[in-house]
Amino acid sequence: YGKKRGFDYCIDYNEEIRQHTKRVLFIETGILNGLQNHEFYMTYQPIVSLGSERVAMMEALMRWESETFGMIMPDEFIPIAEKTRTIIKLGEFALDSACQTVRKMLDTANVSIPISINISAIQLFDSSFYQYVLKTLAKYSLSGAHIIFEITESVALDMTTRTIEVIKLFRALGIKIALDDFGSGYSSLASILNIPFDFIKIDKAIIHKMVMDSEIKIFMGALMYLCHSKGLMVISEGIETAVMCDKVAELQTDYLQGFYYAKPMKAAAAEAYLGLAERS
Ligand code: C2E
Ligand code: MG
Ligand code: MG
Ligand code: MG
Repeated sequence: YGKKRGFDYCIDYNEEIRQHTKRVLFIETGILNGLQNHEFYMTYQPIVSLGSERVAMMEALMRWESETFGMIMPDEFIPIAEKTRTIIKLGEFALDSACQTVRKMLDTANVSIPISINISAIQLFDSSFYQYVLKTLAKYSLSGAHIIFEITESVALDMTTRTIEVIKLFRALGIKIALDDFGSGYSSLASILNIPFDFIKIDKAIIHKMVMDSEIKIFMGALMYLCHSKGLMVISEGIETAVMCDKVAELQTDYLQGFYYAKPMKAAAAEAYLGLAERS
């Protein structure tokens, strides 16, 4: 009897693996096709200033509404796109969409809100990326000051002079650079001090732990103090409740981002959120 149950379980398990493999294979091979079919779009999540709660910038976050699998989130498809290097094309799409949205806000409401874009290491070190950035800024008549690049901390981990050089190249265009996911496991304080960042984004996992753990809160206070002494601005992400908001406010964070303020929204909804829709 037990044997039979075990066997049934085995079949289900194999079926699960089969489905998963099918899905990974689909993602591996379906990204470029999905791009052509306009299945990808960017959402925008406001980042507000502490105190005034005014929207200081927005983060561009990619979504894939696949005809075959429905909504696929970036945590699933971005790592695969990095492996197959289709991230280059996705990244171009993200940059173009974000710049288009900045341009539209300028044209329709004369509002200038920088959009920050997540840049994968593969893109950052791809030789065609810099030219693509120049081309796209020119296409929408924008300066570098209209966009921000978010680089995840695993990139900063290998703080080679090459990383620093690439970052300097983009900063020379006026593009500000944020270290994303700080505290999620890779970077050390040294990376903050050695790489010319403008912003540090504290990972949401740390923000969530901080509410329960006063030692983490003390550590975060010291970290924010250090960042400020180096001229870096701190963004706290994953703010979901008023309590989380109060805790990071006590620590003098500069900016806040999270579901408590707004979820990532499609461009039109983001414009409406900003009160731009009725003015246009
Ligand atoms: P990330 O850059 O750290 O983005 C923040 C993530 O936290 C987003 O997840 C956002 O929706 C989510 N988030 C925002 N507020 C809250 C909150 O209050 N609570 C919780 N639990 N989560 C919150 P999302 O959109 O699923 O993106 C996941 C990751 O995928 C991003 O993490 C980023 O690393 C990557 N990603 C997204 N879009 C792009 C893109 O266009 N290019 C690249 N290279 N990576 C991207
Ligand atoms: Mg980010
Ligand atoms: Mg990230
Ligand atoms: Mg992050």
